Amino acid sequence: MKEYDVIVIGSGVGGAITARRLSERGARVLIVERGGLVPREPDNWSVPTVFFEKKYKARDTWLDRHDNSFDPGMFYNVGGSTKFYGAAMFRLREQDFEALAHRRGVSPAWPYRYADLSPYYDEAERIFGVHGDDHLDKTAPPRGTPFPYGPVKSEPIVERMAQSFRNQGLSPSPLPLAVNAAPAGTCILCRTCDGFPCKIGQKNDAETCGVEPALATGRVDLMTQAFARRLLTTPDGKRVTAVEVDHAGTVKRLQAPLFVVSCNAVNSSALLLRSADTGTPKGVANSSDVVGRHYMVHNQTALMGLSHRVNSTVFQKTLALNDWYFGDNAFRWPMGQMQMLGKLQGGMLTASVPYMPSFLGDRMARHGMDWIGLSEDLPDPNNRVTLNGGRIKLSVTLNNMDGHLELVRRMKRALQRAGYPIVITKSLVAHATGHQCGTVRMGNDPGTSALDPFCRAWNQQNLFVIDASFFPSSAAVNPALTIAAQALRAADHIMATDLA
Ligand SMILES: Cc1cc2nc3c(=O)[nH]c(=O)nc-3n(C[C@H](O)[C@H](O)[C@H](O)COP(=O)(O)OP(=O)(O)OC[C@H]3O[C@@H](n4cnc5c(N)ncnc54)[C@H](O)[C@@H]3O)c2cc1C
Ligand code: SF4
Repeated sequence: MKEYDVIVIGSGVGGAITARRLSERGARVLIVERGGLVPREPDNWSVPTVFFEKKYKARDTWLDRHDNSFDPGMFYNVGGSTKFYGAAMFRLREQDFEALAHRRGVSPAWPYRYADLSPYYDEAERIFGVHGDDHLDKTAPPRGTPFPYGPVKSEPIVERMAQSFRNQGLSPSPLPLAVNAAPAGTCILCRTCDGFPCKIGQKNDAETCGVEPALATGRVDLMTQAFARRLLTTPDGKRVTAVEVDHAGTVKRLQAPLFVVSCNAVNSSALLLRSADTGTPKGVANSSDVVGRHYMVHNQTALMGLSHRVNSTVFQKTLALNDWYFGDNAFRWPMGQMQMLGKLQGGMLTASVPYMPSFLGDRMARHGMDWIGLSEDLPDPNNRVTLNGGRIKLSVTLNNMDGHLELVRRMKRALQRAGYPIVITKSLVAHATGHQCGTVRMGNDPGTSALDPFCRAWNQQNLFVIDASFFPSSAAVNPALTIAAQALRAADHIMATDLA
């Protein structure tokens, strides 16, 4: 086997951006990925293929807290979930890094402040070619550099709704988006972006912005169809010596001085727990017993405002509302964020509500204006990933719903005042795993966290976990840009220390 400085396990945002940064700074990296490449093909933009046949989804089942099997809707492929993401690239707000009182508890502080991550947010936005303009967003944190590109403009029907919100005293702002709609890009702002892979490779995702530039350095190899079964450690449990992978049916042991686990929150914690051995009886990185715990995923509700007018918008995901993020006069606690969804199509509705007749789904989609509310769920040690006979078990009890329900109530009213008299809501909390985070939390105290503030495992100094697992709190914005920013920060730390 070739010699590598670092083995990165998983090629989503965390793994891909770490591999890119390390290799661009001279390190030799092997990326181990359980899936393959998502082909660019006509099926990418087909609602029946993507939503009914679920062609690109992993055939994986987990157990819930009652030991019932469910389909977690995971994506195992090069680029991870970002091949299918909505490309909304938000920074956490400045206060999200501090301890923040909620109606039902306190969201814990991060081990560093926003200012420490801010320069890496600037870089992550550049890497992902983010379009945006946050001067109307009163919660937006200070930024070192402007957005790389101006905002993606709202189409007329969405702009009319935005004007109505402004008339109501609200401050809608453009959604920061990682699509290649810059002058040199060829993104056509189509209606099959959010939830679909991009047929023409213009979504700025972990493959196009992380894996491909990493491979272009010539210092990176990508091993696909390689499932990491467990990490092997020295007898005293103090160092990781190898990762055991099932590579297309053959078991291999891969060695390197440094390991980065980036399998997303549930699979990273499952890998660490599966790796328990005599020197690591509770699992790797887990003397604190926090691995798998504090699972978070956001409290989420989809809203569809219906009017008699047809909504002919093609690229709809262009607006956000942060007016209620930290509360208002009537409810003093954080409520969260509203953002637009990609334009829902009839087939997407009937795929998620099986008893709905297709003519009804089509009709609603033609007249509907689609939003999603995201609110912070709090890190509860009992919301956790465990292994049950080798299978992943995800035990979750909802928390902190008051603020979320207040958010949904306010948004319903705003939509009704904007000319959408009927507003249908659908709670997305059951088994939605898209924004999973928090299961291998970082902190300043090895007794209550698994990772230090640079994502290094307290217990095994040659191991890093760089993906959505590290979040101490979930905040109420989409996680990908924060994962990318912290990946850059952690990779620079690796280059300055272990690989100096
Ligand atoms: C439909 C959808 C829409 C979303 N929209 C947005 C959005 O608009 N904005 C946003 O910020 N976020 C969005 N998200 C969330 C975002 O995509 C994730 O937060 C982010 O991709 C997580 O990055 P990660 O590196 O932690 O994991 P992932 O991106 O999931 O990558 C993990 C990788 O590890 C691999 N892997 C897992 N286990 C193993 C193993 N044992 N061995 C080897 N490889 C393994 C997986 O195949 C995968 O490639 C969305 C998610 C979904 C599903
Ligand atoms: S063309 Fe643009 S809008 Fe359509 S899927 Fe690709 S990146 Fe998204």
